[in-house]
Amino acid sequence: MATSGQPTLSVVIPIYNEEQCIDMLYERLTAALADVEGGYEIVFANDGSHDRSEEMLRELISRDERLSLVNLSRNFGHQPAISAGLAQAAGRCVVIMDGDLQDPPEVIPELLAKWREGNMVVLAHRRSRREGVVRAWLYRMFYALLGSVSDYPIPLDAGVFGLIDRRVADQLRNLTEHNRFLPGLRAWVGFSQAVVPYDRDERAAGRPKQSLIRLTRYALDAVFSFSYKPLRLSLAVGLAISIPCLAYATILVVKRILGVDVVKGFTTPTVAILFLGGVQLISIGILGEYIGRVYDEVKARPLYIISEVFRKSNATDAAEGDG
Ligand code: UDP
Ligand code: MG
Repeated sequence: MATSGQPTLSVVIPIYNEEQCIDMLYERLTAALADVEGGYEIVFANDGSHDRSEEMLRELISRDERLSLVNLSRNFGHQPAISAGLAQAAGRCVVIMDGDLQDPPEVIPELLAKWREGNMVVLAHRRSRREGVVRAWLYRMFYALLGSVSDYPIPLDAGVFGLIDRRVADQLRNLTEHNRFLPGLRAWVGFSQAVVPYDRDERAAGRPKQSLIRLTRYALDAVFSFSYKPLRLSLAVGLAISIPCLAYATILVVKRILGVDVVKGFTTPTVAILFLGGVQLISIGILGEYIGRVYDEVKARPLYIISEVFRKSNATDAAEGDG
C-alpha cells in the first residue's frame, strides 16, 4: 500500500503458477505505472501456486512497499482469486488484470484517463486476440451464445481486464454469489461505463492455467447465472413436442375406437419414446445446472480462504479472513 494514505490505483492480479511471467510482469507494470498521480499499489492474489511464484512475489515485496500478496489456502480458481485480491485493494479505483501479460499493462494509463473523465467502469475491449485456434474459436462461440441468451446486455469481448471505481468495487464485493462471472456482475451493477480498445497479446510464458474444462464451467456459469432462457427453452421444446403429440394421440384413439386403419407398428412408438426421452433428459440436465448452483449458494461457504497476507510494512498479517 502507498505510504501516504489511500493510493489512487490498486492493481489486482490473480497468480497461479506464473513463475515465468512474474519478473516480466513486475517490470512492465512498474514502468507503465511510473507516472500515476497519487500513487498505486499492486495486490497479488496467489491462488495456491506450487511453483516459485510465492517466493518470487515475497522477494519483490521485500524491495517494493507498494506490493502486497494475499495467499489463498489452496487453488480456488481465477474468479475467487480475483475476489480475494479485490477485498484487499484500497485504491480509489481498481484495475483487474491477468498475470500472464495477455492484458498489456501499458493500457492502464488509458483506463485511468477515462476514469478521471468521470467514468465509473472502464472496460478494456479486445480489438483482437492472439490465441490458439481452438481457444479463439471457443471464445467466439461463447460470446455469441452469451449475447443471444443473456437476460440483459453484457458487453461482449470484454473479459475481466478493466478498471472499476472504488464504489463499484464495493458493490461487487457485496455480491456474494459463488458462481462468479465477473464481466456479467460488472455489467449488472451498472454505473457509467466507457470502453478502451486494446489488442490482447499471447500469454508471455508458460501454459494456460485455466484448462478447457474450467473455461467451459466458467462459460456455463456465465449462461446460467445471467439467464433463465435455457429453462424457458426446455419448456418451449416440451410444449412444441407435446401439443402435436397430444393431437396425434387423439387421432389414434379415435381411429382405434372406430376400428379403422389399425396398424400394429413399432417404428412410431420407438421414435417417439427415444425422442421424448432425449428431450426429457436434456430438460432435467438444464434443471440440474440451476439446482446445483442453488445448492452452492445455500451451502454459503466462503468464496475463498486466505492463509496469509504479506506486506513489507507488517511482514505478515493474521492468517485469517475469508470471502
Ligand atoms: N489463475 C488463477 N487461478 C487458476 C487459474 C488461473 O489465479 O486456477 C490466474 C492465472 O495465473 C492468470 C489468470 O488467472 O494470471 C488467467 O489465467 P490463464 O491465463 O490461464 O487463463 P486464460 O487466459 O486462458 O483465460
Ligand atoms: Mg491467459
